[in-house]
Amino acid sequence: MHELSIARALLDTALATASEHQATRIGCIHLRIGGLCQVVAESLRGAFEILAEGSIAKDATLEIETVPSVWRCAECGRTLAVESAPEVCCCGSRDRSFEGSDELTMTSMDLECADED
Ligand SMILES: [Zn+2]
Repeated sequence: MHELSIARALLDTALATASEHQATRIGCIHLRIGGLCQVVAESLRGAFEILAEGSIAKDATLEIETVPSVWRCAECGRTLAVESAPEVCCCGSRDRSFEGSDELTMTSMDLECADED
């Protein structure tokens, strides 16, 4: 299960960052996910929830921003959203590539720290 391994990596990173900042609780985790990652946001949230159980990330929520994939024609350079891209470009080329589409980045995270005297 794809989402489970992503959730695990995410939790590891979140907990490591939290401990660096001596945080006592992790609030919101902001993610950016490329359209070609084929991550189902709901599955990722569910997997994260299970893994985070009992840790300081147990109440964390995932804010997921999906970045659309871009299709680029190798011949004429025309770009289109993957969803609406045709089999053959208007220039007649079938040669294309996908761009900016497989990133999975943790953009920011809200941490709560214990009050210090
Ligand atoms: Zn073209």
